[in-house]
Amino acid sequence: MDFSEPFDVVVLGGGNAALCAAITAARAGCRVIVVEGAPEFYRGGNTRHTRNLRCAHDGTAPTMTGPYEEAEFLDDLYRVTGGQTDERLAKLTVARSKELLGWMDEQGVRFQPPLGGTLSLGKTNAFFLGGGRGMLNSLYRQAQSLGVSVLYDTPVTGLTIDNGHFMSAAVKHQGAAKSIRGRALVAAAGGFESNIEWLKKYWGAAADNFLIRGTPYNRGDVLRLLLDAGVAPVGDPTQCHAVAIDARAPKFDGGIATRLDSVVFGIMVNRDAQRFYDEGEETWPKRYAIWGRLVAQQPGQIAYSIIDAKSIRLFMPSIFPAVEAQSVGELATKLSLDPAALGKTVDDFNAAVRPGTFDHTVLDDCRTEGLKVPKSHWARRLDTPPYYAYPLRPGITFTYLGTRVNNESRMVMTGGQVSGNMFAAGEIMAGNVLGKGYLAGIGMTIGAVFGRLAGEGAAAHARN
Ligand SMILES: Cc1cc2nc3c(=O)[nH]c(=O)nc-3n(C[C@H](O)[C@H](O)[C@H](O)COP(=O)(O)OP(=O)(O)OC[C@H]3O[C@@H](n4cnc5c(N)ncnc54)[C@H](O)[C@@H]3O)c2cc1C
Repeated sequence: MDFSEPFDVVVLGGGNAALCAAITAARAGCRVIVVEGAPEFYRGGNTRHTRNLRCAHDGTAPTMTGPYEEAEFLDDLYRVTGGQTDERLAKLTVARSKELLGWMDEQGVRFQPPLGGTLSLGKTNAFFLGGGRGMLNSLYRQAQSLGVSVLYDTPVTGLTIDNGHFMSAAVKHQGAAKSIRGRALVAAAGGFESNIEWLKKYWGAAADNFLIRGTPYNRGDVLRLLLDAGVAPVGDPTQCHAVAIDARAPKFDGGIATRLDSVVFGIMVNRDAQRFYDEGEETWPKRYAIWGRLVAQQPGQIAYSIIDAKSIRLFMPSIFPAVEAQSVGELATKLSLDPAALGKTVDDFNAAVRPGTFDHTVLDDCRTEGLKVPKSHWARRLDTPPYYAYPLRPGITFTYLGTRVNNESRMVMTGGQVSGNMFAAGEIMAGNVLGKGYLAGIGMTIGAVFGRLAGEGAAAHARN
């Protein structure tokens, strides 16, 4: 690899956002390099774990039900963020999401009809044939056929930025320090969710008990370098997307298979065997993303989903077997919970369940009455052995702190001036659109929309 000549566009990161930018810039005739911190097998960060992308569409795509109008997408986005979004960038994301199915198809990405057990997303989300890895393989093949250079196992360790202008990136490549110069920069190196020390700044020691659902390589080093160089931050550093995942999952990279969808079918208790939140407040697709944070707020950051034989076949099977027992007391012992305390919690819950007609596909009328922590739907007595439990911990998907960008995906500096040659795309800037909350599939939308914008802008700058 010849590092002596500057590249037109230097892309940092190797996931969806990076590849969309690299392909766009290469198609515009630029000499492009992708600098991926992970080894080749692990290329593609959290994008490897994805299954789908949300997009507005007119309903003619054969792999989706629909249509899903721009206005509806925008409403959904405003609702989940509670208005905490840059309205201009939100509208841009939604408007340009309409181009994504066609653009991805041109790059060789294939889609499939939605599978069952996928949060009922057939109308709003397009599912990658072969999942995130299949999608990434197509993008890498396309990038390389366009002449994009790709460096693997090459973490970025420094950036030379002069008054908001990118000059070069310091990297570690094959054991040696190298400098890569470029006319324009696209930063697409994800959030800082794998950096436990950084998470501890906001969560304290509790962060030691967090599990990270995705790549261990998203440590936020590029984000930190950019913020230190005067790029304006965006997003609440304490905000992250966190779901409840099986506590037996690996510390990093457990992916989608460790998520548990059993919560709505039974009760959730903490390590004191106490319930702490309405398990039946809303349908699971609208609530699954709050349970990571709820578990993070419990003592020891652990909780247990408890169901009985009536429910074991109603949700996607977990990768780990449930803890099983013939009585609630035996279950408590197996979970190292106080049997008397769990027995009382289950008895109180059972006594509060009102008669109703159970239907887990709608907000049914099965609810409790008189409990301090109610269960509003799908409340059925826990009375049919065997009893089952899954231990749950917070599973962090990604963080929201990022770099501020404008509607060209150009980074904005703390003084308000717009950088001439620095662009950001994907998770590293998603906080511009997602002030809080999450809409399934929008991570990939933001990466692809702003990746393409960044590629266009970086190429235009490099060629002038
Ligand atoms: C289990 C799981 C399932 C998900 N499912 C979906 C889904 O179905 N749909 C959806 O829209 N979103 C989903 N998401 C979120 C989605 O993964 C992200 O929104 C998206 O992948 C972000 O793309 P990105 O390109 O910005 O970051 P990433 O894909 O994470 O890529 C970041 C890249 O930067 C590299 N990097 C980091 N630091 C450095 C450094 N110092 N030097 C060089 N390179 C570096 C990493 O190695 C990586 O290649 C899921 C996330 C997880 C964890």
